[in-house]
Amino acid sequence: MSKKFIFFILISFTLFACKKEQPTKFDILILNAQIIDVEQGEVTSNQLIGISQDTIQLVDDMSNKEMYDGTEIIDAKNKFVMPGLWDMHVHFRGGEALIKENKNLLPLFLAYGITTVRDAGGDITSSVLEWRKSIAEKKLDGPNIFTSGPKLDGSQPAWDGSIKVESAKDIEPALDSLQKLGVDYVKMYDGNLSKEMFYGIIEAAEKRGMKTTGHMPLSADFLKAVSLGLDGSEHIYYIGKACSPLADSLTEVGLGYGMMVPIVQSFDMNLADSVYEIVKPNKVSITPTVHVVQTLANILEVDHSNDSILAFLGDGIEQTYQRRIEGAIRAKERGDNTYNLIYKLGLNMITNMYKAGINLVAGSDCGAFNSFVYPGESLHSELFGLVEAGLTPQQALSTAVVNGPKFFELENYGAVKQGKIGDLILLDHNPLENIENISSINTVIHLGKIYNREKLNAMLNELREEYN
Ligand SMILES: [Zn+2]
Repeated sequence: MSKKFIFFILISFTLFACKKEQPTKFDILILNAQIIDVEQGEVTSNQLIGISQDTIQLVDDMSNKEMYDGTEIIDAKNKFVMPGLWDMHVHFRGGEALIKENKNLLPLFLAYGITTVRDAGGDITSSVLEWRKSIAEKKLDGPNIFTSGPKLDGSQPAWDGSIKVESAKDIEPALDSLQKLGVDYVKMYDGNLSKEMFYGIIEAAEKRGMKTTGHMPLSADFLKAVSLGLDGSEHIYYIGKACSPLADSLTEVGLGYGMMVPIVQSFDMNLADSVYEIVKPNKVSITPTVHVVQTLANILEVDHSNDSILAFLGDGIEQTYQRRIEGAIRAKERGDNTYNLIYKLGLNMITNMYKAGINLVAGSDCGAFNSFVYPGESLHSELFGLVEAGLTPQQALSTAVVNGPKFFELENYGAVKQGKIGDLILLDHNPLENIENISSINTVIHLGKIYNREKLNAMLNELREEYN
């Protein structure tokens, strides 16, 4: 045998031995997982997941487990693993005095498996931007934040902190200031934003490649806004308006939200189908927000005083809940049951919008002022509400996991697959079988950090202790 050949054998053996002795090592290795493919509604058992640098590096069968190792190893014990939830409509707001209480909502979101939130506008933007940065740098525990920053509204904004767009000359400076802040999208509001400014903002934002969503002035035409490039519509009112044959005549009368009663009463299923056909190819995301509507519709009938989640919220935020209660009392006195009607409108539309292929996204509308719509828990309730409205659990989960990232055109979220971001939740029970199982959160993995149930409970207890 030549020396050369012996050397070759030795090298080969060493390489083989090395390969066997040095398994591929990940930052986090999850063993014995049942992976939920939310998009397909399928579960694959006996899986392992390797995460490094916040990204899923590998998904493999447990039969190959000898090949892998992890700095941190989680035995999922056949629990269900799926991507973290996205709440696509939350609010951080209530002014300087409530900054700390808003910051304290961040662990609350994580405790409910929400690893990303889309902040739909408020008045404490600089704080929100600071948290967004600190969370991304792993210095602060909280979900990824996408924020619109201040809302764009008319001369008399409905919400504090909004930027006024009163005439066409205000549009570009408003967008300049949003871009300077580094917001993620544009949120419009209809305090008294004119339809001309609404259209103008959409067109100008479109040219800058900024995404727009919002409330729509009810004087405006939804399908026109879609044709101009509107990317999202919050709540069901605006697309609902387009589904009534009376929309144009009611607009001429100028009823504002008063038109919603005849709009809902004249809802036309066939017209609605034709609206969905136009909305779908234009990739407009719709956030139905069924839970907040239902909560506000029943606000005077349901006693919330013993809701256990109140223990995790500050008094300041709780006090803001009073405003909606007073509004509801006044509405009841004048026989206004708009929220009930809007809830019914949602029931008419949600399943068919989903079937038509519209990008429905789950959003809770939680935050100060939206009474008893609790950050974290309310996204679960939104999913229950979507199932009540006719979606299957798989479809409802898609709105929170697959469709949220689609609004931002992010392809590296939405599945437990190689190359996707490793924001994951481990559930004790299968939410495809029963949507309520989404609340059986055992562990949350976010930005490379593991929050097991003990850690999540400790975060909640810290809040409870701070407030009691
Ligand atoms: Zn909102």
